[in-house]
Amino acid sequence: MMRSLAGLASVALLLAFTLPGDPVYPIDFFVSPVGSALRLSGTFGELRPNHFHAGIDIKGGIGVPILAAGDGFVSRIRVAPDGYGNHLYVQHPNGYTTVYAHLLDYAPEIQQYVRSLQFSEETFELDVRPEPSRFPVRRGQGIGRMGNTGHSFGPHLHFEIRQTESDKPLNPLLFGLSISDRVPPRFYAMKVYELDERGQTLRSRTLPLTFRNGAYRPASDTLAISSNRVAVAVKVYDQMDGVSNQNGVYSLDLFANDSLAYGFRMEGIGFDQTRALNAHLDYQEHTQNGAYFHRCFRLPGNQLGIYLEGKEGILPVQPSPPVRVQTVARDASGNAARLEFSLRSSAPPLVALNPVPPYQYFLAHDRSHLIDDYMLYLNFPKGTFYEDLYMQYEVREQVLPGVFSPTHAIHRATVPVHSDYTIGIRPYDMPEALRPKAFIAQRIGTSATNCGGQWQEDGMLVASVRSLGYFCVMVDTIPPTITPERFYTDMRRYNSFSFRIRDNFSGSANLPNLKYRAAIDGKWILMTYDEKYRRIEYVLEPDMEKGTHTLELQVSDAMGNTTTFTRNFTR
Ligand SMILES: [Zn+2]
Repeated sequence: MMRSLAGLASVALLLAFTLPGDPVYPIDFFVSPVGSALRLSGTFGELRPNHFHAGIDIKGGIGVPILAAGDGFVSRIRVAPDGYGNHLYVQHPNGYTTVYAHLLDYAPEIQQYVRSLQFSEETFELDVRPEPSRFPVRRGQGIGRMGNTGHSFGPHLHFEIRQTESDKPLNPLLFGLSISDRVPPRFYAMKVYELDERGQTLRSRTLPLTFRNGAYRPASDTLAISSNRVAVAVKVYDQMDGVSNQNGVYSLDLFANDSLAYGFRMEGIGFDQTRALNAHLDYQEHTQNGAYFHRCFRLPGNQLGIYLEGKEGILPVQPSPPVRVQTVARDASGNAARLEFSLRSSAPPLVALNPVPPYQYFLAHDRSHLIDDYMLYLNFPKGTFYEDLYMQYEVREQVLPGVFSPTHAIHRATVPVHSDYTIGIRPYDMPEALRPKAFIAQRIGTSATNCGGQWQEDGMLVASVRSLGYFCVMVDTIPPTITPERFYTDMRRYNSFSFRIRDNFSGSANLPNLKYRAAIDGKWILMTYDEKYRRIEYVLEPDMEKGTHTLELQVSDAMGNTTTFTRNFTR
C-alpha cells in the first residue's frame, strides 16, 4: 500500500517539475567564471534579509582569476564601499548580462580606466557605462580577481545572469554551468498554521522533523488541527558535494491527497519584487528567532512571480478522512527530499473566527490609506502590506535626551512593509538652529536609525520609511569620529595608512554613506572605503617626495556634521 502510493506521488511530482511554457535558456553559452566546476556557498533565490539572493556565491580565495562567462563587452563598472563592492557587468549578444561582484580589483586595462576616472572626478565611488567598443571580452578572458569588497564576509564571487532588457536576475544554474551535486535538500522543521475564515492565523506551532521510511516526518504521522483551514511552512536547505554550506532550494511543491496545492520555482526574481521575500517567509518568525521558514501558502498581497499559478496552498481539513500532505523540495540538479504527514481537524473545530484584536485603524492590503492627524501623518500607498492589518497605534510621551517629539508606536516591527510609505511627525517646540539637524528616527531598543527628513511648510518633518515600529524626531549635532588605525608621524617604513570612520547614528537605506575627502599637501588622494569595517585606506605613491607632508582628512555625516583631521608626516 505504502509503496504504490509513493509511486503514484512521484509520477505527479515529475509532471509538476517540468512545466509547459517554461522558458528555455541557452545551456552551452556560458562557462564557469572561475574556470572550474562551481563550489557554491550560496544559491539563487536563497532567503536573505529583505531580499532573495540574486545570484550564486562561488567559493574561492582572494586573487582567484575571474573570467568572462561568455563573449561580450564590459557594459558597466561600479565601485562601492558597500553592497556589491567592486563589480562589473558583461553584456552578451544573446540578450543576457553577467555580473561579477565583490572583486579585489579589475583586469589591468580596466583597473587603469577606473583609476583615471576616480582621479578626474576626485571620487572613490564610481558607476560608469563604457562604450561597447572600449572593453570587448572573449569567453574565458580575465576581467578581475576574486575579493571580499562591499557587503561580503569572506572571499567569494557573487555571480549573476540577468535578462539584459529587464535587468531581471535569473537562476545561473539553469544555464548549464558545471556543478557537482548529488546531495538532496534536507528538511529541518515545519510549522502548522491554524487559520480563521478570513485567512488570519489563529495560532501556529513549530514541529521538529526526523527522517524515517524515506521521508522527513513530524513525531506524529497525523496532526490534529483545531480549525478547518490550515497552512504549512518549512525550514529546508540544500547541500552540495563536498561543501558544508546550507544553500537555498530550487523548488518546492506541496501536494494534498496527491493533487498539487502550492509550488515555487527559483527561476528569476526582479529587483522590484525581491522585497516580497518578507511575504514569502514567516516574517515574524524571522524577526523574532532569525529562522527562515518558507510559507507553503501565499499571502493575498504577495505579488512574487515564483509561484505556480492558482495554487494558494491553504488546505481545507475535516475530521475524517485525514488529508495526506507531501512536500517535495528539489535543488537545481534535481535531487529531491520529501516531507510527509497527514492532517485532520478535531470535531467540531474549536474556533471558527478570530476575535478581532483591539486596533485603531483597519488597513485593507489592497487599498491606499491616509492617516492625517495634527501630530502624525501617515500615507500608505496601495501595496504597502501583504495582508489586511488591524493597526495598533499609541502615542508615548517620554522625555528622552535628543528626542524632540512624542514617540509614535505604529503597530509592530514584526509586520513587514513592502514599499516605502510616508511618515510625518510634528516636533515639540524646536529651536530654529536645530531644525537642519533634525530627522525622523526609528527607535529599536536603545538605538535609533536615522530615516532622513524634510521640513514641510506646516511644521511637520516628513520622511519615507519601510518598516513599522517606534518613530520620533531626533537631532544629530555630533560629527563622525576619525580614528587612526595605521598612521604615524614617521611614515618612512610604511607604504599605506588607514583610519576607522564612525558615526553616532546608523542610517536607513535611503540615506547616503559617510562622505570623506582626503588630500596630501592640498592635492586630492584616492582613499578606498570598506563600509563593513568602517575603514578608509591609502596606499602611498612609491615616488612621493622625501620630507614632511600634510594630510588633511574630512568626514561628514548625513546631517552635514563634519570632522577634520590634519597631521604632518614624514616620508
Ligand atoms: Zn551573493
